Amino acid sequence: MTEVPRLPTSGGCRSEPILKQRGQREVFCGLTGIIWLHRKMQDAFFLVIGSRTCAHLLQSAAGVMIFAEPRFGTAILEETDLAGLADAQTELDKVVDQLLARRTDIKQLFLVGSCPSEVIKLDLSRAAERMTEKYAPSVRVLNFSGSGIETTFTQGEDACLASMVPVLPVCDERQLLLVGALPDVVEEQAVALLSAMGIQPIKVLPAPRSDTDLGIGTNTVFALTQPFLGDTHAALERRGARHLPAPFPFGEEGTTAWLRAIADEFDIDAETFERVTAAPRARARKAIAQASEALRGKSIFFFPDSQLEIPLARFLTRECGMEAIEVGAPFIHKGIVGPDLDMLAQGPTLSEGQDVDLQLDRCRTARPDLTVCGLGLANPLEADGLATKWAIELVFTPVHFYEQAGDLAGLFSRPLRRATLLKLEAAE
Ligand code: SF4
Repeated sequence: MTEVPRLPTSGGCRSEPILKQRGQREVFCGLTGIIWLHRKMQDAFFLVIGSRTCAHLLQSAAGVMIFAEPRFGTAILEETDLAGLADAQTELDKVVDQLLARRTDIKQLFLVGSCPSEVIKLDLSRAAERMTEKYAPSVRVLNFSGSGIETTFTQGEDACLASMVPVLPVCDERQLLLVGALPDVVEEQAVALLSAMGIQPIKVLPAPRSDTDLGIGTNTVFALTQPFLGDTHAALERRGARHLPAPFPFGEEGTTAWLRAIADEFDIDAETFERVTAAPRARARKAIAQASEALRGKSIFFFPDSQLEIPLARFLTRECGMEAIEVGAPFIHKGIVGPDLDMLAQGPTLSEGQDVDLQLDRCRTARPDLTVCGLGLANPLEADGLATKWAIELVFTPVHFYEQAGDLAGLFSRPLRRATLLKLEAAE
C-alpha cells in the first residue's frame, strides 16, 4: 500500500492568517519567461514591443546564446514613433510583415507588451486580431503582457499560456492535460510515469508545435506542474476543463502526492501505483537524504518572487529538515497551493505581496541561515553576512519529479556550504 503524505499534527497553514503588505517590490518582470518559453515552443516567435531596457534584459537573461534564427526579439519603438499611435501601429505592422516574410518557420507569433506608457496605450490585442486575419491559417498571432508593472517574472509564462487557451480547438475526448513549460527531460519523466500506470491520452500545454492535436473540453482534466499558473488555470476552467488540485511535484513526497491525485482520478489501483513509483521514490529519498545533510536544522526565509515559495517551503521543511521563518509569495491562490499549505506545518509567517523595506527589516532581525530572494536583494543581504539563493535559478534548473529531487535539495545546500567556507576563510 502506498503511503499517503501525513498532514502536520499541528495542523497545516491553509487557514493561517496571511500578512498582506503593499509597497515597493523587488521582482523581475514577465519578459524573463520568454527565455524558457522559446525553447519549448519550437515554431513560436516572441516579439517584445518595448524599450531598449527590455532588449537589454532579454539579451542578458539569455546569456551569450546567439542563434542563427532566434525565436525572440524586441521591436524598439522610439518615443517619436509612439507619439502618434496610428504611426506606431503602422510601424508594428511593418516589423511583423518583414519578420514573417523572412521567417516562414514561424507559426505562432506572440506580441508581448512591456512597461513604457506609450506601449501600454497600444492596443496589442486588436493588433493581434488584425494580424491573425491577415496571416491565417499559416500563422496565429496572440498577445500578452510581460510588463514589470503588471507581472512578476513567472507570470510571463502564465500570461502566455492563458492567451493560448481561448483559441485551442474543442476536444470532447477524456484526456489528461499537463500544464506548465518544463524542461523536456523532466516532462518526459512525468509522461513516462503516468503512461506506465496506463493513463492516456496525455497532452501538454504548451505543446512543442502549434500543429499538434491539442484541444480542450469538458472531458479534459488538468494538472498544473507550476504553481504560478493562476490565469491559465482560470482560462482552462472557462473552457470547461477540470483542475486536479495536488501538492506540486517537488521532492519525493510532493511528486508522489501529485501522481497520486492523477492516479486516483483515473482509477489506477494501489498495486500499479506502487509498482511504477517504488523504485524512483527510493532513489529520490536516498538522493534527498544525501543532498540535505547541510540543510537539517537550518532556517530559511523566502522573499516573494517566483510563486514557488509555498511548495518549496513544504519540501524543505518536511523532507530536508529546515525551519521556515517567513514564506513570502507574490500571490497566494489557495485553489492552487492549498494542498501544499495543508502539508506545511504552522509556524512560519505567511506573507503575500511586498513592502520590501519592511520585509528586509524582518529578514535582518531574524537572521535566517538562508534567504531565497531575487537578484536585486541578494547582494545587499550577502553584504550583511546572510547566505542567499536566487529564486530565478529555480525556474532555469530542472527541479521537478523524483529524479531531480536530490538536485533540488542541492540547490539550497550549495549556498550554505559556500557561506560556511567563506566564514572559515575569514577566521583564518
Ligand atoms: S520591467 Fe518593463 S521596461 Fe523593464 S525590461 Fe521589463 S518590461 Fe521592459
